[in-house]
Amino acid sequence: MSRPVLAIHGGAGTILRSQMTTELESEYRAGLEAALRAGWDILEKGGSSLDAVESAVCSLEDNPLFNAGRGSVFTHDGKNEMDAAIMHGSTLRAGAVAAIRGIKNPIKLARLVMERTEHVLLASYGAVEFGEEMNVELADDAYFFTQQRWDQLEEAVAAGRIQLDHGSRPTAGKPFGTVGAVACDAAGGLAAATSTGGMTNKRFGRIGDTPIIGAGTYADDTCAVSCTGHGEYFILGVSAYDVVARMRYKCVPLADAARETIEHLSEIGGEGGLIAVDGNGNFTLPFNSEGMYRGYANNDGIETAIYSERAV
Ligand code: ASP
Repeated sequence: MSRPVLAIHGGAGTILRSQMTTELESEYRAGLEAALRAGWDILEKGGSSLDAVESAVCSLEDNPLFNAGRGSVFTHDGKNEMDAAIMHGSTLRAGAVAAIRGIKNPIKLARLVMERTEHVLLASYGAVEFGEEMNVELADDAYFFTQQRWDQLEEAVAAGRIQLDHGSRPTAGKPFGTVGAVACDAAGGLAAATSTGGMTNKRFGRIGDTPIIGAGTYADDTCAVSCTGHGEYFILGVSAYDVVARMRYKCVPLADAARETIEHLSEIGGEGGLIAVDGNGNFTLPFNSEGMYRGYANNDGIETAIYSERAV
């Protein structure tokens, strides 16, 4: 028997206490707690890590505060294009979708790719057509529209900048973050899931690290990892798998491996963070940015944190 644990993130970046209102902070914490409860309810009852991470990510996708599903940012041409991936450590199976539109919960479609196709990654129209065949819930443009996201796009276009949702221009009134979850269940089974709207003002067709297995998402029987931050650098650093490789080949514990991965990310110029769990119920949530929306749930309880000064 292992110690079950669930860890989540809601994006990393320039998140400053000085620029956050009490109300907005409460809303973020409530969103993180709801996601932790959704996943922990499953683990507590002896359910699988795969179900737990899917459920936690669905909860965050449905919350317009976070940059995934409903709260996805806009591309340069004013559309929402989403990426998502899920991976099951014990079976080494993964499913991912990239640059998809009009799907309410991309993470559910990623799981269907894993379980109902011979493939790992489906993109764009092909992924959406597969979703329609599988009867996944669709959503129209109005569902994905939030005024804050539109304002962010207009600012980014005016400045000629492609920006991380939680990037260089922090404001408490603006939503932050890609979402992800990692879990270890009572049987020691590991799973990881990540979902995102990507970067504001990104080019049509740009795909980030989230659906690239090994870059933004990875799980095997060593550990499960979900990343958030400037995706191009996580692709170049193969960051999610880098944690696994350090554990496997250097024989270092989870927290050291994950810290080294973030140090390497800094060396290559990337910003962001990751969450990771191993098969013994250890977890770690390192980042090199000002803050990361994050939290965990285990038998000791549920805890959330946002800024860098917190230990969690
Ligand atoms: N990693 C995501 C991407 O580059 C963005 C994020 O984590 O905020 O698409």
